[in-house]
Amino acid sequence: MTLAKLFSQSLNRRVAGLRSPFVNTSSPSTFALKARFFNTSRPRANASSSAKQTASPSPLPSKRWKITKRVGLGLIAASVFCYGVSIYRFRHPDEKQPFPDPSKKTLVILGAGWGATSILRTIDSSLYNVVVVSPRNYFLFTSLLPSTATGSVHSRSIVQPIRYLLRHKSHFVKFYEAECSDIDKDSKVVEIRRQTSDGQELVEQINYDYLVSSVGAETQTFGIPGIEEHGCFLKEMWDSQKIRTRIMKCLEQAQFKNLDPETRRRYVHFVVVGGGPTGMEFAGEMADFIKDDLKSWYPELANDFSVTLIEALPSVLPMFSSKLREYTKSLFAKTNINIRTNTALKEVTPDNIIVEVKDPEGNKVEEAIPFGLLVWAGGNRPRPLINKVIHSLDEQTNRRGLIVDDYMQVNGMQDVFALGDCTSTAYAPTAQVASQQGAFLGQLFNKLGSLDFEKPRIDRHIAVGEELDSAALISLANEKHASTKVFRPFKYSHQGSLAYVGHEKAIADLNVPFLDKQIHASGYLAFFFWRSAYLSELYSLRNRTNVMLDWIRTSLFGRDISSL
Ligand code: FAD
Ligand code: MG
Repeated sequence: MTLAKLFSQSLNRRVAGLRSPFVNTSSPSTFALKARFFNTSRPRANASSSAKQTASPSPLPSKRWKITKRVGLGLIAASVFCYGVSIYRFRHPDEKQPFPDPSKKTLVILGAGWGATSILRTIDSSLYNVVVVSPRNYFLFTSLLPSTATGSVHSRSIVQPIRYLLRHKSHFVKFYEAECSDIDKDSKVVEIRRQTSDGQELVEQINYDYLVSSVGAETQTFGIPGIEEHGCFLKEMWDSQKIRTRIMKCLEQAQFKNLDPETRRRYVHFVVVGGGPTGMEFAGEMADFIKDDLKSWYPELANDFSVTLIEALPSVLPMFSSKLREYTKSLFAKTNINIRTNTALKEVTPDNIIVEVKDPEGNKVEEAIPFGLLVWAGGNRPRPLINKVIHSLDEQTNRRGLIVDDYMQVNGMQDVFALGDCTSTAYAPTAQVASQQGAFLGQLFNKLGSLDFEKPRIDRHIAVGEELDSAALISLANEKHASTKVFRPFKYSHQGSLAYVGHEKAIADLNVPFLDKQIHASGYLAFFFWRSAYLSELYSLRNRTNVMLDWIRTSLFGRDISSL
């Protein structure tokens, strides 16, 4: 029996249990109640005596119902009140936000993604003059990006302008929509640039006392020819919009009658390269889009649609348990998503991808696969700014990202910190890691900032006029307070992995710390968990409301298919 059936049966039983005093017309108590509600012409005394005569032997169920109703109504009223208060506070930030104080240190944060916003949420902005620099003036909830590419969630529902966050800090935080192009570690200056709408380039230098790099990473292409020209990435919001436009173009051009069947099938062949969670989620979303919407709006193409997922490694979803990998594979087989492992992408032409596979004798052979849409979801590489830093320092020996110590301090740079996808650590490049590192750094800066106020307590260690860098301050404070260790190294706590795999099913490998156990869940239950986890992780109440409404809208009306 399916989970849904079990759920609906238990729900019916519950509803029946609740309803029973009212709907069971044969029961004497129901009769009495009906009489009480509808027979208004009857004198009260009569009504009560007849009720007494026919009363049910136990009045308990109706009493319990009353209490349940009151508690329920109370909870609804409390939720509406809290929702209203949150909206009011969101719309009405504090009038006064004190401006920068030159006597305080300047903390410059590069980026407005998972890592940076996590620092900004945690940091006490009264301790520093905080400056944020990012070419993107919003936070992007990347986890739901595959859903925006197929239209099950609107793009604007998963972004939050960074100024909302900054405006709610106790002290003013300066924001520049610009790109950091250079870091001068000796004079402690960053150079920022942006193009104006009339084609000029604005350049500014900002002095920092502490600098945090949370600039994320770019999409790794491994130098595969043609991929940037003919493929789509899935990293930023503009990538998702490009995918959507490409899907609609493919559909509309596949309509023409005089197309040969092969070309028509090519147009509606959607290929995803990369068997990590992003690629799998997009393939699942695409299969849903076809099943729920495209087959009914484009009936003449119904038999031509196909989705293929390509992965160079022997297996997809390496971070999930083997049980969940098998589950996903069998689900994809049922939903007609063709998974091809051990298949490496070599080249992309306008109409075909060239892949390398092994023939039955074990020889490597090339194969051309025609496609209408190609989504490349394979790995990260450092941004140009990070490459520049890596190449300029002997201490930076890893080409994948910045090497940092246990306090996220960049090796070879004083008072410079880095976190998230721009670093090279033992952790996977995930939002979970970046946001935990961000919260850690926010607390570290709060402690460093308050150390300035307790300077007299550590002053005897400092020569007159000497300025200590963050590393020296951390070790000095730890030495002074050896028992409590003011600064503890960063420790990552893995909560688990979640992915949507289509057909309203998800997979989840969850860590239960108090049981010291991993739970593997799949199917509808994991899907409900996936939705609730993402809802709770979304940035603001506005995001949560929008995403929830989007899900309701999609299930009622389907996804929009206009080629905007
Ligand atoms: P980002 O969040 O990428 O932020 C980088 C910021 O730096 C951006 O604001 C950018 O504009 C800015 N920037 C870029 N260049 C410069 C510059 N030169 N100067 C200043 N600023 C700059 N992880 C999970 O844990 N769970 C998931 O479900 C999940 N799903 C994902 C789905 C997709 C489609 C993608 C692409 C990623 C997903 N991830 C997920 C991974 C996660 O998004 C990243 O690990 C996370 O964004 C890393 O955070 P970050 O702060 O290092 O970088
Ligand atoms: Mg960031």
